[in-house]
Amino acid sequence: MKDLFTTGFFHFSVSKYFCLICLNFPATKYSCQFFAAVFMLVPMKALSFLVALLLFSANEVLKAADAVPAAKIRVLLITGGHGFEKQQFFQLFRTNTELSVIEKEHPNADAMFKSDRAGEYDVIALYDMRQDSSEQAKADFIARLKEGKGLVVLHHALCSFQKWPEYIKIIGGQYHLDKTVVSGVEKPASSYKHGMHWKIQVADTNHPVTRGIKDFEIDDETYKDFEVLSDSHPLLTTDEPTSTKTIAWTRSYEGARVVYIQLGHDHTAYDNPNYQQLLRQAIRWAAKRD
Ligand SMILES: [Zn+2]
Repeated sequence: MKDLFTTGFFHFSVSKYFCLICLNFPATKYSCQFFAAVFMLVPMKALSFLVALLLFSANEVLKAADAVPAAKIRVLLITGGHGFEKQQFFQLFRTNTELSVIEKEHPNADAMFKSDRAGEYDVIALYDMRQDSSEQAKADFIARLKEGKGLVVLHHALCSFQKWPEYIKIIGGQYHLDKTVVSGVEKPASSYKHGMHWKIQVADTNHPVTRGIKDFEIDDETYKDFEVLSDSHPLLTTDEPTSTKTIAWTRSYEGARVVYIQLGHDHTAYDNPNYQQLLRQAIRWAAKRD
């Protein structure tokens, strides 16, 4: 017995005179090639079929993934400390099918900033107004922003935390309830005017928050003489004399995307399609979906 497995096209033999595959006698590599080719063809075809099947399956999986709707943006919506038209305001969020919303009113909101509740939301939306909270709650709030949660600050939330210097750094502006000294300069108290009909210009038409929105008019309350930090990026401006010029902006705070929109006192603003689009796009951008 010379060799059990010889080279040359699956030529099996127990001796040089007899091939185990082709059963030819005498066994030569030439006599075995036909059968070897047949034996090769079968596994090759099977392999091609398997590869095709795998590619098809992968494509189907990708198509299925495309068909699955994107996960909802989870919004922690905080109110309290200032009156508003609740039903109409909450409808803005409840009718947005992109969102799932947790509504919390003070004093129940701070518990949501604790680390064990942090996994329940992607974006914090502030439509509250308050002047103080515990040091722990402030630290928890900042910790959530450092984790990258988005922050959308609406209308009267500009008036919160007059005596917490970090708040203006977070949101990029402040409504002064009283006259205030800023960098050694005395600033007058801010003021407001209800029921105004005014014109708004889009300062950045390319930003995801304002994309697709043209200059528009709105019936809404104006704020005047409020602070806007110079490192905020303006989105909306106005020439309305009863308003500060820049009324919406974006900024970054410790990696968190922050948007402020001054608009939104009551249903005359809530019902404005431009306001609705702004709010929708602000939440998407803060959630890093754009
Ligand atoms: Zn208001």
